[in-house]
Amino acid sequence: MKLILFFFVVLSCGRTVVTEKSSFPDNNISPVESEVLTKALKRIQAEFDTQKIKVKLNSVPYHVNDLPGAMAGACYKMGSNVVGIAIDHEMFDDAEWDDGEYPLLFKVLLHEIGHCFFNRKHDEKYIKADEGFEFEVDYYGSGEPWRDQSLQVSIMSEMGWYRIPPKLWPYFLREVARKDRLQKWEDMKKYIPISRVPKPIPN
Ligand SMILES: [Zn+2]
Repeated sequence: MKLILFFFVVLSCGRTVVTEKSSFPDNNISPVESEVLTKALKRIQAEFDTQKIKVKLNSVPYHVNDLPGAMAGACYKMGSNVVGIAIDHEMFDDAEWDDGEYPLLFKVLLHEIGHCFFNRKHDEKYIKADEGFEFEVDYYGSGEPWRDQSLQVSIMSEMGWYRIPPKLWPYFLREVARKDRLQKWEDMKKYIPISRVPKPIPN
């Protein structure tokens, strides 16, 4: 399993309210990026449809460009109107599909969709295992569960999953649309096998 699976990243996001449409970056998308983006949006739309969440992702423009600083993506709004979603070129470097996880691009898109379509703000809520405990979660269905100290509640976190394990995808789709939200760790059982176990005592 690739090391990148275990890598968490701070995703800088420029949720941006602008006063002029011209602040929205131009579209500098390459043909390859265009193909990847189209495929990703179709896939995300299909997942929303499956979850019976009404949203029309193609109702806003998506522009790809070099965004300022370390910005991964941004939802541009004028007042409450969406101008568009901008994604940095770098988010396409990692657009592999074949290793059982959704690429980073998916996380960035879903996060910006949260800002633009569901009016979500950043949300760094995590559910922690109690003192002396940790979670055992089989994120990848491999039969070899991960041990985790905390569960990410929202895709609107700027920290958190770099690539979202497919088994968590239905949860984050519902969460971003305000259809579900973990209140306690047991709520995650609807989506994925999880248990709380005593932390091993270090030797
Ligand atoms: Zn954001």
